[in-house]
Amino acid sequence: MSALSQRDPDVAAIIADERTRQVESLEMIASENYASAAVLEATGSVFTNKYAEGYPGKRYYAGNQHSDRLESLAIDRAKQLFGAEHANVQSTSGAEANMAAYLATVEPGDTIMGLSLDQGGHLTHGSPVNFSGRLYNFVPYSVDRESEVIDMAAVRKLALESKPKVIVAGYTAYPRKIDFAAFAQVAKACGALLMVDMSHIAGLIAGGQHDSPVPHADMITTTTHKTLRGPRGGMILSTAALAEAIDKAVFPGTQGGPHMHSIAGKAVAFAEALQPEFADYARRIVENAKALAEALQAGGLRLVSGGTDNHLLLADCNSVGISGLKAQNALQGAGIITNRNTIPYDERPPYVGSGLRLGTPALTSRDMGPDEMKRVAGWILRVVKDPDGDGVRETVRQEVAEFARAYPVPGITDVKLAV
Ligand SMILES: *Cc1c(COP(=O)(O)O)cnc(C)c1O
Repeated sequence: MSALSQRDPDVAAIIADERTRQVESLEMIASENYASAAVLEATGSVFTNKYAEGYPGKRYYAGNQHSDRLESLAIDRAKQLFGAEHANVQSTSGAEANMAAYLATVEPGDTIMGLSLDQGGHLTHGSPVNFSGRLYNFVPYSVDRESEVIDMAAVRKLALESKPKVIVAGYTAYPRKIDFAAFAQVAKACGALLMVDMSHIAGLIAGGQHDSPVPHADMITTTTHKTLRGPRGGMILSTAALAEAIDKAVFPGTQGGPHMHSIAGKAVAFAEALQPEFADYARRIVENAKALAEALQAGGLRLVSGGTDNHLLLADCNSVGISGLKAQNALQGAGIITNRNTIPYDERPPYVGSGLRLGTPALTSRDMGPDEMKRVAGWILRVVKDPDGDGVRETVRQEVAEFARAYPVPGITDVKLAV
C-alpha cells in the first residue's frame, strides 16, 4: 500500500480514477501530453520542500547547494536544446512567463501586437479579461479571411501604423508554420522587439520539425508541458542583451520562490528532448496530424486553412451542421477528449464556438501511428455526424476504451489493464 493510499484514501482513489481515465480515453487536446515516468518522479521529489529565491550562486536562503546544481543543469540543457544565449527556467507556467517577458520590456500602456484570441492567439496576448489586455495597449492582428493563414503584408502594414514596442508571434490554435524570419523583419522595420511564444510547438522545434525562432526573436516564452513533454511549467529564452531584465522580471518581478521540483522535472524533460529519439517523436506527431487531417477531410469535415503543418488541426464543425460545444460534448461521451474553439471570423460566441481543436502529441506518445489516426478519424466522424444517434456515443466509447487500453501510457505503469 502506498503512503498516499494509507494516509488519504480519498485523494488516492481520485488519482487512481484519473489514471484510468487517461488510459481508457483518447487524449486529443492539442496542449496536453504524457510526461515520462522519469519526469513524474523528479517532479514528485523532495525538491518540493525547498525555498530557493534568487538564482544559482545568489540565493536568499541557505541550504541551496543542490538547488544550484539542479537549476544550473536545467539552464545548461535548455540552452543546448534550443541554442539560446540565455534561459530562465523558473516561470511556473506559460502565463507567468509571458507576464515576466512583458514586464522586462514594456511599461503599462505601451503598445504590443498579438494575434487576436478568437483567431488562435492566447489569453495572455491581450485578452481584455487578462492582465495583458488590462495593462497594455494590445493591437490585434488577424488571419486572412480567405486563406485563414497569417498575411505578413497585413501584419507589416498594421505594425508600421501602430508602432508596437513588442510583436508577439506564437499561438494556441493555429495549424500552420510561422515565418519567424518575416516577423523579425517586420519588428525591425517598426523598431519593435520580437517575442515568440512557442508554448504549443516547443517540442516540434526541439525535434527539428519546425524552424527555430532563436535566431530571429529577442525573447521566447514557452510552456514545458505541451509538445515538449515535461512537467507543468514555463521557461523564457532570450538574447544575452535581455538576460538581466528577464531574470529580474521573473524574480523578484513576478514570482517568489521557484518551484524546484518542477525545475527537476524540466531538467529531465530537456535531457529527454536532447536524445535522437525525440526528433523522431516530433516527426511522428506531425505525420499523425497530417494523416488525421486527410481522413477527416475525406469524411467531409472542413479544416481551417485546409490542413496542418504542425501537431494540431482546427475543424470547422459548421461543415457537419453542429457547434464546437456540441462536438466536444458528444466526443467526450465517446471517450475522445478534445476542446471546442472559435474559428477565424466565427459567428458563434466563444463559449459555444464553431471549431474543434484536435492534437496528436499525446496519442503519438502512446506510439500510435497513421493507421491508428485513420481509425480515430473514423470514430470522430461517426460521432460528429450523428451526435445524438441512438447508442452512437456508447458504442464508440466501448470500442475506443478497448483500443486505447492496448497502447501503454508513458508514466502510467501501474494501472491494471482489464482486458
Ligand atoms: C498554453 C499557452 C500559454 C499558457 O500556458 P499556461 O501554462 O497554461 O499558463 C501561453 N501561451 C500560449 C501560446 C499557450 O499555448
